[in-house]
Amino acid sequence: SASSCASRRLVVVALTLAATVGLPYLPEVFRDGRNFFDDSTILIPALVFGVNAIALLYVMRMHEEKPEQLWVMVGMFAACIDVWLTLYGGARFSLGWYFAKMTSLFTSLAVLISQLYGITRLYHGIAGANKILMTQANQDGLTALSNRRCFDQVLEIEWNRARRDKRSLALLMIDVDHFKKYNDCYGHLAGDDCLRQIAQQLLRVINRPGDVAARYGGEEFVVMLPNTDAAGALLVGERLLLNLTAASIPHADNEPLCRVTLSIGVSVMVPAAGASTSALVLAADKALYAAKENGRNQVCASPRELLTASASPAFLMS
Ligand code: GH3
Ligand code: MG
Ligand code: MG
Repeated sequence: SASSCASRRLVVVALTLAATVGLPYLPEVFRDGRNFFDDSTILIPALVFGVNAIALLYVMRMHEEKPEQLWVMVGMFAACIDVWLTLYGGARFSLGWYFAKMTSLFTSLAVLISQLYGITRLYHGIAGANKILMTQANQDGLTALSNRRCFDQVLEIEWNRARRDKRSLALLMIDVDHFKKYNDCYGHLAGDDCLRQIAQQLLRVINRPGDVAARYGGEEFVVMLPNTDAAGALLVGERLLLNLTAASIPHADNEPLCRVTLSIGVSVMVPAAGASTSALVLAADKALYAAKENGRNQVCASPRELLTASASPAFLMS
């Protein structure tokens, strides 16, 4: 408790003061070439030894299993030996006296080093755990893409940057076609594997430093392309579909192609003052819905972008 901790500190302070400032007032150990193991003063060395022995017992009974505790025990034991050797040594600067001092010094040094070592090890452990936590907090466990949390943060940052620079920000909302049927047909583990393959395909089509691919949730993915116009975003979507065609992942229940396909909704905006990221996400979501309605396995842009992209209708395939 707090009070017993305070009283323990007080004892330590009192003993330290007695051993330093109070030194002249303590009885002399050696006088006239004799130590004070007379019958008259035997009480004093017995007391010193007793205090050390009690402290050693106290440390031994502590229930914390730390290496430091072991070293404190060794230190206390050395202190006991110190007292014993000093008092029975017969002369102040004998070999035994020096030996006792050396063991005392060495063990207290060992305690200090072991404490430092313990702290350093703890620090390294925490730093490592922190690194793992940081990764896990931002990464999707299944696909190793950025997770939703990370994506939301990055989107906010890029949105504000695009507004400041008056540049466009493009978003691709991607959904796997008839993925429930894929799970029903091949099992959830195969479904997970399929999502991992799709994630790899996403990473293949983004090249610029600011581009981010993330798992939005379930079998939905997003790709964010800063400083990219509608034509560029549609091109990325088309390239993704092409690569997936080449990969040709079997999906028997996805008629008529019988391979895994994606529907992709694209939205592109130059953020207006006061507008929020949800406008961009909502527009991409609407475009994705249109892609599903139009027969899946295609890229659709949100209406305003459809106009901008109308110069290259080849991007809208079905
Ligand atoms: P649609 O073409 O209209 O998108 O049909 P869908 O079946 O893909 O759409 P729906 O949203 O009805 O189903 C999504 C399915 O995705 C439901 C669930 O079985 C599957 N799914 C979501 N997350 C995971 C996942 O982490 N692993 C696996 N294996 N399947 C998932
Ligand atoms: Mg879905
Ligand atoms: Mg789906």
